[in-house]
Amino acid sequence: MKIDLVTIFPGILEGPFRESMIKRAVDRGLVEINLVDLRDYTRDRHRQVDDTPYGGGYGMILKPEPIYEAVEDLKSKSGSGTARVILLTPQGRRFNQDAARELSQEKHLIMICGRYEGVDERVRSTLVDDEISIGDYVLTGGELAAAVVVDAVVRLLPGFIAEEAAANESFSESLLEHPHYTRPPVFRGMEVPSVLQSGNHAEIDRWRRMQSVKRTYERRPDLLEKARLLPDEKAYLEKIEKQQDK
Ligand code: SAM
Repeated sequence: MKIDLVTIFPGILEGPFRESMIKRAVDRGLVEINLVDLRDYTRDRHRQVDDTPYGGGYGMILKPEPIYEAVEDLKSKSGSGTARVILLTPQGRRFNQDAARELSQEKHLIMICGRYEGVDERVRSTLVDDEISIGDYVLTGGELAAAVVVDAVVRLLPGFIAEEAAANESFSESLLEHPHYTRPPVFRGMEVPSVLQSGNHAEIDRWRRMQSVKRTYERRPDLLEKARLLPDEKAYLEKIEKQQDK
């Protein structure tokens, strides 16, 4: 996969991809991540990327010309002709694990990071294939939002983590993940559940699955609507629902 991040502040995006597992994915060739300075696509002496809004009002707007030129250039360099162009915006569809999974199937993503009051509407209406928001709050720029999206997408690429680990994670199968424990077995009087120390893997799997159901019910019952539960898991869910009603 190739990911181009178009930004006027490439420095903000250097840190997140130079450490830990994302760096390893880059080093292993699972993904190529390019920071593209929007100012390289300006034609004036001042390398101006923004201008005042028509109609007046507060703040500056990112101009359409450099963004169009950047995206056209990146598309032509990629050769595949299948790049998906994403605008990070608080007005976009809300990013979640399904969206991450969907994007992880793409060969080439071009992400446009807005700044100031945002981008000229013509970019949104004709250049962009997808608009993504990372939540109902307003950031100063799209860079941190893009970093979140890239992180969530790259870790789903085949070979990034063991398939088994990804299969049990929160939001896979519309459930939250079970609790985790590590050594010591007793910490300040708090004991690791005995089943986890039993060595009985069938029992451990069953305990984890039930904990997943319970945790999802307690914290995100909305997810359960889409969860495909086995008969004993459904029965367990009904039991906790009944206990709750009492
Ligand atoms: N005036 C815009 C509005 O009210 O919709 C907000 C602009 S915001 C200050 C500047 C840039 O930050 C946006 O163009 C977008 O790229 C990015 N941004 C802010 N919040 C975001 C969010 N929740 N998700 C994704 N991108 C966001």
